[in-house]
Amino acid sequence: MPKTLSEEHKRKIGLAHKGKKVSKETRAKLSETRKKLFKEGKIKKSWLGKHLSEESKKKMSETRKRLYSEGKLIHPWLGRKHTQETKDKIKANHHYCKGKFASQWKGGNTIIDGYQHIYKPEHPNAKKAGYILNSRLEMEKKLGRLLTPEEIVHHIDGNKLNNKIDNLYLFNNQAEHARHHGKMIVLVKEMVNNAN
Ligand SMILES: [Zn+2]
Repeated sequence: MPKTLSEEHKRKIGLAHKGKKVSKETRAKLSETRKKLFKEGKIKKSWLGKHLSEESKKKMSETRKRLYSEGKLIHPWLGRKHTQETKDKIKANHHYCKGKFASQWKGGNTIIDGYQHIYKPEHPNAKKAGYILNSRLEMEKKLGRLLTPEEIVHHIDGNKLNNKIDNLYLFNNQAEHARHHGKMIVLVKEMVNNAN
């Protein structure tokens, strides 16, 4: 004996089918609702309610990555150019997140603990926040290879912000670097003593 469907079940199936064939009017209403929710800040993007197939998502992602590699996008996940309002929001948010460093934010160039850092989250040795010491980047450019975590770049003139390549000296490890600093301290003490 075939199963009979309950009225409730039939109604549900009916609704599900309706979902497939949405009238223009309904679609317009849905779109309006999405826009309204978007304006009220209840959803993030006006088109988020739309269903994207895995294939179109993949295509969008690939397009973004390609544009990123061609230098046409700042980030592969940012499909659009920011409006001034969004830029201000990002700036405000950055200020909120980074505290004292935010005021020094110069488009990916910032001073942390007295050292110049560059925002390069894609660098294999970037720190958690995406920054890397500019002195290390300059040394890597000169050598044409990545530095090992043991290698230390020293500022010859003692000015941590002077990252000109002829002011940078590479030590194999922190022990050698510390030895050099120890020698300098002894030398300075001698000079001070002799001057007195
Ligand atoms: Zn040093």
